[in-house]
Amino acid sequence: MVRREIRRLGPPVIASYDVFESKIIFGGIMYDWLVVGAGFAGATLAERLASQRGERVLVVDRRPHIGGNAFDVANADGLLIHQYGPHIFHTNSDMIVDYLSQFTEWRPYEHRVLASVDGQLVPIPINLTTINKLYGLSLTEEEVPAWLAARAEPVEVIKTSEDVVVSVVGRELYEKFFRGYTRKQWGLDPSQLDKSVTARVPTRTNTDDRYFGDSFQAMPKEGYTKMFERMLDHPNIELRTGVEFKDVTDGYRNLIFTGPIDEYFEFQHGKLPYRSLRFEHVTLDQEWHQPVAVVNYPQDQDYTRITEYKYLTGQEHAKTALTYEYPSAEGDPYYPIPRDENYQQFKKYEALANAQDKVWFVGRLATYRYYNMDQIVGQALATFRRIDERLERPAAAAE
Ligand code: FAD
Ligand code: UDP
Repeated sequence: MVRREIRRLGPPVIASYDVFESKIIFGGIMYDWLVVGAGFAGATLAERLASQRGERVLVVDRRPHIGGNAFDVANADGLLIHQYGPHIFHTNSDMIVDYLSQFTEWRPYEHRVLASVDGQLVPIPINLTTINKLYGLSLTEEEVPAWLAARAEPVEVIKTSEDVVVSVVGRELYEKFFRGYTRKQWGLDPSQLDKSVTARVPTRTNTDDRYFGDSFQAMPKEGYTKMFERMLDHPNIELRTGVEFKDVTDGYRNLIFTGPIDEYFEFQHGKLPYRSLRFEHVTLDQEWHQPVAVVNYPQDQDYTRITEYKYLTGQEHAKTALTYEYPSAEGDPYYPIPRDENYQQFKKYEALANAQDKVWFVGRLATYRYYNMDQIVGQALATFRRIDERLERPAAAAE
């Protein structure tokens, strides 16, 4: 058995613990909260609990870094890349922007994506330019609705990711832009997926070629990881990366869990399906590779998209860094798979979660929701409000 002390850079030792066969044993309550996961969900809750309730929080993450899937890092050439694929911040919530703005400045950035279709690069979401370029037409904004209506297939009740698209643009554009990409991305046909998946991508009749329509679109000025560092930089927060939840055996009163919910309950209702990705990070000895940050490949390639980071970060560099995304059934869980049977299975886990007294499940993996970063921050802030209503504040913080 080895006795270790936890030290922060400034304040004195706040806890000591024993490590025995990799388990962390505190031998007493050292923390009000254990937060499992240092992504958006975990970091937001740790920050709120520490700064608003004055509570002592231990944050652990099994990865060797903070930030969860939004983690960004300089590669060997000093180019900032997103280790787990491109993360673009966008939201319609002023409240969420205000909250995060305490920890970062922003770089204005509007995301644009091209799709490689029939040998051409055309805007996705499908818009006026996409249609004109692909079909050699010169339709006006006023003419597009009728052009689309003539191709759209009426669907009585829109249920699936196929219905959503064919009912607006018809089968040909659906097959060119959505069927192949979705089959690759999810390993399922769009007809097997909830409508909410492809409904994320709108259809436009004008020339607006922005990927998102949100009122606030920007990137954290110095990157996501820097922002997370500031969120977690509080005297009441202790951070330990490279630590598994199961290895923290005691020492806390309440728990925030942001990992996969099925794992927490030891898969007693079976393994919940999550989709994974393999990322291939490449640096090219040339200044630019493609005309926009992301090019989607809905047709032939095994990868779904290529991201060129300098568009997102604004970095100036003689080289350029890219990521290719290869969808995969195996690997870290990245996406819950939105379809009814999976949701029914999740409901069984949710019932177990609801019966827990001192455990709160938050985030994309723990609530099995295909949520963007801003939605996760919103969910975490709402959870904090519920905690704050339900649990008495420690005496010192309440004063
Ligand atoms: P995560 O970021 O997954 O954090 C959970 C953390 O918990 C992980 O770090 C994990 O290591 C840790 N953990 C899990 N189990 C344990 C355990 N047992 N013990 C210890 N640690 C554990 N959103 C956008 O808004 N815009 C985008 O452009 C965008 N692009 C994306 C691209 C890709 C490829 C992916 C996969 C997601 C994208 N997202 C995007 C979504 C975004 O990543 C999520 O909304 C957000 O990161 C979820 O935060 P979270 O804290 O819930 O989960
Ligand atoms: N999609 C598609 N073709 C595209 C872009 C998106 O078929 O060119 C579908 C696909 O099913 C994808 C979903 O729409 O998973 C949502 O796209 P989004 O870009 O939001 O995916 P994410 O960035 O979350 O991976």
